Amino acid sequence: MILLDPKHHTRHYSDDASRKLMLDVIDFFETKGKRRLKEDYHARVWYADFLDFVRRKRVFATMSTPAGYGAPDSRWDTWRVCEFAEILGFYGLQYWYTWQVTVLVLGPIWMSANEALNERTARLLEEGGIFAFGLSEKAHGADIYSTDMLVTPKGDGTYTASGRKYYIGNGNEAAIVSTFGKMADTGDYVFFAVDSKHEKYECVQNVVASQNFVSEFALHDYPLTEADILSTGRRAWETALNTVNVGKYNLGWASIGICTHALYEAIDHAADRELYGMRVTDFPHVKRMFVDAWTRLVAMKLFALRAADYMRSASREDRRYLLYNPMVKMKVTTQGEDVINLLWDVIAAKGFEKDMYFEQAAVDIRALPKLEGTVHVNIALIVKFMANYFFAPEEFPELPRRDDEADDAFLFDQGSTRGLGQIRFHDYRRAYEGFDLPNVRIFREQIEAYRALLTGAAPTAEQLKDVDLLLAVGELFALVVYGQLLLENARIYAVEDEVVDQIFDFMVRDFSKFALELHSKPSTTAPQMEACLAMIRKPAVDEARYQRVWEGHVLPLAGAYRMNE
Ligand SMILES: Cc1cc2nc3c(=O)[nH]c(=O)nc-3n(C[C@H](O)[C@H](O)[C@H](O)COP(=O)(O)OP(=O)(O)OC[C@H]3O[C@@H](n4cnc5c(N)ncnc54)[C@H](O)[C@@H]3O)c2cc1C
Repeated sequence: MILLDPKHHTRHYSDDASRKLMLDVIDFFETKGKRRLKEDYHARVWYADFLDFVRRKRVFATMSTPAGYGAPDSRWDTWRVCEFAEILGFYGLQYWYTWQVTVLVLGPIWMSANEALNERTARLLEEGGIFAFGLSEKAHGADIYSTDMLVTPKGDGTYTASGRKYYIGNGNEAAIVSTFGKMADTGDYVFFAVDSKHEKYECVQNVVASQNFVSEFALHDYPLTEADILSTGRRAWETALNTVNVGKYNLGWASIGICTHALYEAIDHAADRELYGMRVTDFPHVKRMFVDAWTRLVAMKLFALRAADYMRSASREDRRYLLYNPMVKMKVTTQGEDVINLLWDVIAAKGFEKDMYFEQAAVDIRALPKLEGTVHVNIALIVKFMANYFFAPEEFPELPRRDDEADDAFLFDQGSTRGLGQIRFHDYRRAYEGFDLPNVRIFREQIEAYRALLTGAAPTAEQLKDVDLLLAVGELFALVVYGQLLLENARIYAVEDEVVDQIFDFMVRDFSKFALELHSKPSTTAPQMEACLAMIRKPAVDEARYQRVWEGHVLPLAGAYRMNE
């Protein structure tokens, strides 16, 4: 089974230490139990118990220190990072978030040439420290060009920093806050490290009402020396973007973890409940919603796992991950919202109960598409790859599953963020050609209709200035990439044909939905509208396949996992 079941952990690790670490994390939460998990959630308790466990077991140090700086088992190994993020999401986004923010801080540090600071950071991680990433500001949102955090040279080789940051996780306790700003004299960007316990650092407030501390903080003439500077100029800018490249991948895994736990709870409840003398799971619409939720979740996981292979194998010559990574961020997380919507429609009132994990899943799942660049920002990014993806494929060696013990050093040496439009991809058609299944065939016809739009009635440069239209074009493109990678992984994981075909049932419907959306945009021309209508198709109906998926894969999840009380 591809979905996480914490009580039957079967994931392959080539080293025992990694598997043991995952089991330790699971054990921490199962020992804590659902009752206390929910009490802490409602009382907004700072998760000191979790951080104490993290320190004792050196969890963040092992997971987040690149090879060479920490203990021998420390490395940045995306294979285990995926599951770690999934497990944390499974038990609560708050636990994931304190780690995720730490990851974001470590980006600028591990990418920096400031060796002394790297050594200090590795030491602080070993001691159980958490960190904060100071990028966002209240007034500027996604527009980080406009930062008002200013670093002023004092003329003697030292500096002072002044300004405010907003929405900064861990800002109450962070051993290091990597902070982004501008030099007051030259206007150059700069990344620098501050200590949240320094007297010139003011933790103003927690902006949110949750277990997380998402701070507003202010620096008042905070003194800096050269030793605190992580990077400057173009390098500081690239560091910010390259860090988000690494970090935003984890958001997809938080969604996957949340949805998996919510699915167990939802199907348990529905299968146990009788209305009008029949089980809720016998209602045809309930079956359909569960099958849809399950197939969407399996697809999320197949896609995100495959994206990891490309991240781990990335190099200066192979930057395909720069397309797949934002897709994990925008597509997997929005699919997560769809999964929760479907499940919530089934369990209805039960989804509000305070003792259910579901109640927090329903809230937290909304965060992931919005953080670290909204869906819009990420679609605007991926459309830059469209022309080469469709019309200039290149040969690449076959990429196997990357579950080896490697340290993913390239992620901290990604280099220039320029030249996205020059990145080349392998031919997506190869993945689709490998599956002769009814819904995959229909989906391929939809892709051909989309290509016909791009070649015969392509949106003009003027039209593409309209971000609203661009987003609709991008959603269709995203589906093609989504289908490609999940098919590549369906082969690697030997997913049954009936499951793949059922996944493409929703893929065909989603393609039709986005085609209709594009059709309805104010500026689409008559030929474009016609091309959009040609993309609208109905999935192949196969009752026997559907029943096999329901009875063989989805319904058996009832009673399969329950968190310890
Ligand atoms: C709980 C929480 C925790 C957070 N933690 C951190 C943290 O630890 N560190 C940190 O630095 N930040 C953090 N953030 C900030 C987060 O990354 C921002 O919310 C995010 O960058 C978007 O900014 P915004 O929400 O202000 O939206 P805005 O930037 O105000 O966006 C407004 C609208 O414009 C759209 N838009 C903006 N730019 C573009 C574009 N280029 N193309 C297309 N559409 C665009 C957006 O999609 C949105 O619809 C956190 C936020 C929250 C809520």
